[in-house]
Amino acid sequence: MDQSDSEHRKISNIQENLVAETTNNPVNSCDVLLTGGIVITVDDDRRVIDPGSIAIQGEEISAVGTIEELSHYEAKRIIDCQGKLITPGFVDCHNHLFESMLRGVGEGMKLWPWLSQLLQPFGDRVTREEAVAAVTNCALEAIRNGTTFVVDNHYAPTDLETTLAVADAIASTGLRGAVARGMYGHPTAISDQFGFDVLDRTFLYSVDEEIDITRAAMESRPPGSRVEVWPCPENISYNPQELIIRAVELAGEFGTPWHSHLAEDDTEQDLYRGQFGAGLVEWLHAEGLLEGGTFAHCIWLDDLDIEILGETHSGIAHCPVSNQYLATGIMRLKALRNSGAVVGLGSDGSCCGNQDLILAMHQAVLLQRVNTLDPTEVLAEQAFEMATIGGARQVGINAGQLAPGKRADLVVIGLDVPQARPFNNPIGHIVYNSRVTDVDMTIIGGQIVYEDGRFTLVDEFAVMEEAQARADEIFERLSLGYFRNNWQN
Ligand SMILES: [Zn+2]
Repeated sequence: MDQSDSEHRKISNIQENLVAETTNNPVNSCDVLLTGGIVITVDDDRRVIDPGSIAIQGEEISAVGTIEELSHYEAKRIIDCQGKLITPGFVDCHNHLFESMLRGVGEGMKLWPWLSQLLQPFGDRVTREEAVAAVTNCALEAIRNGTTFVVDNHYAPTDLETTLAVADAIASTGLRGAVARGMYGHPTAISDQFGFDVLDRTFLYSVDEEIDITRAAMESRPPGSRVEVWPCPENISYNPQELIIRAVELAGEFGTPWHSHLAEDDTEQDLYRGQFGAGLVEWLHAEGLLEGGTFAHCIWLDDLDIEILGETHSGIAHCPVSNQYLATGIMRLKALRNSGAVVGLGSDGSCCGNQDLILAMHQAVLLQRVNTLDPTEVLAEQAFEMATIGGARQVGINAGQLAPGKRADLVVIGLDVPQARPFNNPIGHIVYNSRVTDVDMTIIGGQIVYEDGRFTLVDEFAVMEEAQARADEIFERLSLGYFRNNWQN
């Protein structure tokens, strides 16, 4: 035997041992193996593996690689993903699921009249059963549309039982999320100016009661629950400052984010400055309240506000479809992203937008381009990052990327549709051409919750029927029939 033979034998032995080791190693068995898809990892190298495979063990991704690299995996279930895209699930950073009762109505109103004359009076009268029916249906819609985590700012009714029932309704579908419990405390001069003084149940609870109920809900659904509860003073501009301060303390106590609406309308900053001598962001910063804050909209900001939100790595839920529907304005997306703020996307509910994060990605790009006349202002990859890794970072979950150790929250998107032919570029396809109806499968925490047009945990037909029946009842009860007439205007 010459030297090279001996070397060769040694290498062969090492290889054999390695194969034996890897074959016997339990890491090579998994619960689910997705194989042969175009895997958009959004990992730190932004790899797209084509064709690639993903192994899922329990609630986590255990391996990601080429088909060959994962060929030694044995799985309880192998899913052939040839000709399909596999992406991290989408994170909806701002929604109001119960508002879906009013989808398709309330046209042509500015933000404050829309809230004070339609949404809040509706919220003052909706029952727990009605809210839960709408939430359950909307959670299914989210899953169907590739969303795997939703921040549901639920603000009516907000008694403890309803708050927990809403969390349970979301969890029952398999969706992951947080109920950001909306709080009002008492009316303020600014809430009166916005027309909220006509409302009879919105300001039902004192600041103390709001905090107590939220605390009890958070104790019952603490961080790490499938659906957590977070504190959510509804709006920085019109909530009592004491409520906001105590909500942030509560979030800090439990280690959760807190949520609110911030600078959505062009009147808020001036009203606030007039009353308190500081802008909304300036006040939050001066009080040291920005930590853990996640804010919907953030449209009306000056350079200093953006710098502060960036320095504090505040979370921003950009809701481009809602901002257009309600004519509230255009967020300075590029400046906020560059500042260090953690920007994700939100749908803001189905009655001022569309529970569709593919549409939100699409609109996030186009809105900036037409506003700046610069086609490079925001690119498809950046919109895709906001819907996945940006959202996951903002809400504080170990997801948004397809990589070992990440939560197995992912979506399989079919390409066997005319809008995917010819197929040239995965991200360009998703942002500009795909439809949420192309979603074939949604997996959340390793559990397949939607597959081939059916939901696996609930009877979607019963849920849809109940949502319709409950909406019919409330439209009748509140004499809202007018809104169902065609050609309302
Ligand atoms: Zn909202």
